[in-house]
Formats: sequence, C-alpha cells, structure tokens
Amino acid sequence: MSDPLVGSRYELRIDSEGARESEVVHDYFAVHPADIEETPEQDDLVGYVHSYEIGSTVDGPGIRFVAFLSGCLLRCQYCHNPDTWHKRNGYPVTVSRAMEEVAKYAHVLKVCRGGITLSGGEPMVQRPFALRIFRRCKELGLHTCMDTSGRLGERFTDEDLMDIDLNLLDIKSGDPDIYEKVTRQPLQPTLDYAHRLSSLGRPMWVRFVLVPGLTDGYDNVERVADICAGLKSLERVEILRFHQMGSDKWRELGLDYTLKDHEGPSPELTERVRKQFRDRGLTVF
Ligand code: SF4
Repeated sequence: MSDPLVGSRYELRIDSEGARESEVVHDYFAVHPADIEETPEQDDLVGYVHSYEIGSTVDGPGIRFVAFLSGCLLRCQYCHNPDTWHKRNGYPVTVSRAMEEVAKYAHVLKVCRGGITLSGGEPMVQRPFALRIFRRCKELGLHTCMDTSGRLGERFTDEDLMDIDLNLLDIKSGDPDIYEKVTRQPLQPTLDYAHRLSSLGRPMWVRFVLVPGLTDGYDNVERVADICAGLKSLERVEILRFHQMGSDKWRELGLDYTLKDHEGPSPELTERVRKQFRDRGLTVF
C-alpha cells in the first residue's frame, strides 16, 4: 500500500536529506544549485512536495486541493513557509502517486467548482513536474491554478501556460528597490511574466501582501495598482494582510525574523490601499 499524503501549510517538514543539506550549506538564505536545477524529463517524474491541503478556500476559486511544492528563489521577509525554500525540504513524490491522491477528490472538487492549486515555495522551480500535474488534471476536467511570484516565468512556454487556468500572481512591490529589499530578487521577471499572461489573455489574480512599514508606502501601492491596471486578463486583486503566523517557523529554523515586532495593517490602512486599487476600476478583495 502506498504511503498516505498528509500535511498542512503550517507543518514544519524537513526530511533527512534536507537537514543534511542545511548542515553542509551553512547559509540557509542562499539559493542552492539543487533548488533551481531543471528536473530531467522521464516517464514518471519525481517532484518534491512539502505538504498538501485539502479543502482550501483561499487559493483560487471554489474548494481547492493545494499541493505546496518545495524550492523557491525568493527570500521574502514575511514568508510564512521558510521551510519550503530548498527543494529538498520537501519529500519526493512521483506524478502518478500525486495524481492518485488528486483523483480521490476530483469529483467533489468539480462539484464545488474548485480544482487543484500548486503553491509553495515556488512551483515554477519544478516546471516539468508542475506541468505534468497540470496536464493530468486537465485530463480529469479539473480547474488548475498556480500560485507564483513569476520569477522563473521565462521557463514556461506559451503552450505550457495553456494548461494553467488561473495564475495567482504575487506582486510584492511596484518599486524595484522595495521589491529587492522584501525578496532579495529583482522585480522585472515578475513584470515580464504578468505582461505575458496579459498579452496571451491568460486569467490572473494579483496578490499583494500589505506590510506596514515595508510595502504600505502610498507611492509603492500606486505603482502596484498602475501595473495591475495595465493587465488585460486581470480578474481581481487580493490584498493579503500581513500576519505573524509564520514566525514560529523562522524561530525553529534558527533564522533571524526581521518582522518579529511588526503588527498587521490597521483597518484604516487596509481600506486606503484597497481604495487605491478600486480607484483604477479594479476588483479588490
Ligand atoms: S515567494 Fe512565497 S515561499 Fe518564496 S519566500 Fe516569498 S513568501 Fe516564501
């Protein structure tokens, strides 16, 4: 009998290989070559999965089966899943094994107008695995979503994007300097990806994490809103209010959590930011 696939986004999971890797590479913030190498194509691809969540209502339309893949290039100051940054923080799963699990829920996901969402970490890191899952889900008639920063969008061909019904695209700042301060990565690849989705007419929801004192500057929000206003296939903007739910993981990993004393945005600030998007005729949640 195969092992059950369990887990939640709030579970700390580091497998033995990941732990060994952390001992060898002392800088946990570094992007290890193994984190971003392309998986070679093979019959039953192996991907690295951190955890699953079944029944999510916040990762796309309807009820979702969410697979959190491991591996990410960004190092967001507010990340609530720092235990997914390295690919080997996850555990190896073949496409067929993952699809066995998805298939169990396929009927109910369709009835609930939901589907599957690949999140992370950053699903783009594991492009062939992600695409194989999306293709198999489309064959089951399931709606597919990818929660992504777009950082590795250039890895995806236009044809690849046709199997992704909805991109949940994180735009973490509209100001390149603030973006780099928040994520340690450049903004431009995300913008390139957003504009490509727009020109291809591929639906997207943009997500913006509102952190007082970091991303909440009026001009920064104006820039994100301007970017969004220029995206033809944008269906909605989601303002995600900063919270401290990830702080325990930073502590358990022995990482310095620079936002440990930060509070979430006030209702007034949240409303000001929402209004900046609404003023451009955007649908905001
Ligand atoms: S992109 Fe997501 S998983 Fe990666 S560091 Fe940022 S918040 Fe964490």
